[in-house]
Amino acid sequence: MAPDRGFSARFWGVRGSIACPGADHVIYGGNTPCVEIRCGSRLLVFDAGTGLRNLGKSIAEDGITDVDLFLSHTHVDHIAGFPFFSFAFKPENTLRVWSGHLEGGLTTENVLRQFMAPPLFPVPVDIFAADVSYHDFSAGDTLTLVDNVTLRTTMLNHPQNSTGYRVEFGGKSICYVTDTEHFEDGPDQNILGLIDGADIVIYDSMFTDAEYPDYKEWGHSTWQEGARLCAAANVGTFVIFHHLPERTDEELDGIAAAVDEMRPGSLVAREGMILKP
Ligand SMILES: [Zn+2]
Ligand SMILES: [Zn+2]
Repeated sequence: MAPDRGFSARFWGVRGSIACPGADHVIYGGNTPCVEIRCGSRLLVFDAGTGLRNLGKSIAEDGITDVDLFLSHTHVDHIAGFPFFSFAFKPENTLRVWSGHLEGGLTTENVLRQFMAPPLFPVPVDIFAADVSYHDFSAGDTLTLVDNVTLRTTMLNHPQNSTGYRVEFGGKSICYVTDTEHFEDGPDQNILGLIDGADIVIYDSMFTDAEYPDYKEWGHSTWQEGARLCAAANVGTFVIFHHLPERTDEELDGIAAAVDEMRPGSLVAREGMILKP
């Protein structure tokens, strides 16, 4: 039985687009998106970026044998860690992989099969020894994992779509909202509905408002927009996430100071950070 860790989020990868290890990325980390959310003894994982590899090592030490992995979408930065998730190679484990963004007859399973296939990758998903199953839903659906864990979802504004999630457990809520581009004529109503009154919101803050005009239609938002959404939706803690690969530790420290002025208590996600609502 996995230990009961209450309700918490732990960050294993916070970077967008591509992993970027290096001397300027030591404090915040260089792995691509992967966030662990514990709901009592249950373990939910959001995205399978390169941070998933270290998560796999950690949960082996905890004796966890059951994991639900929810993908925001299947761009490579969000699935690059999937073939390296040691948890999936152990026969005693059960892994359910979910996504809700796909269209045109694609499924979670066939996209991951395409990704883990020669000549892109040497071995297929069949190499996994765990009991791995793949589950498709439509962004907007509500998923009830067990009686006391509910996930609400919504469609985000991103090339080939992305899914935003709200995890509700014990009367509290944590939202995971990446990758998404805001609209210039007003707040994204899908997101406002999802994050309304949430305790913690993790949001695609790849750019700054000043940078954004050069990156329109890239499918990403700004930290200032995240702060505005969180203010409008009465959110508790706003967390800046999916950092630009080029952004140095020093620059992220600067953003942390700026967001704290605009919305005190906001945070810049870094690898290893643990938050409890
Ligand atoms: Zn991304
Ligand atoms: Zn993407």
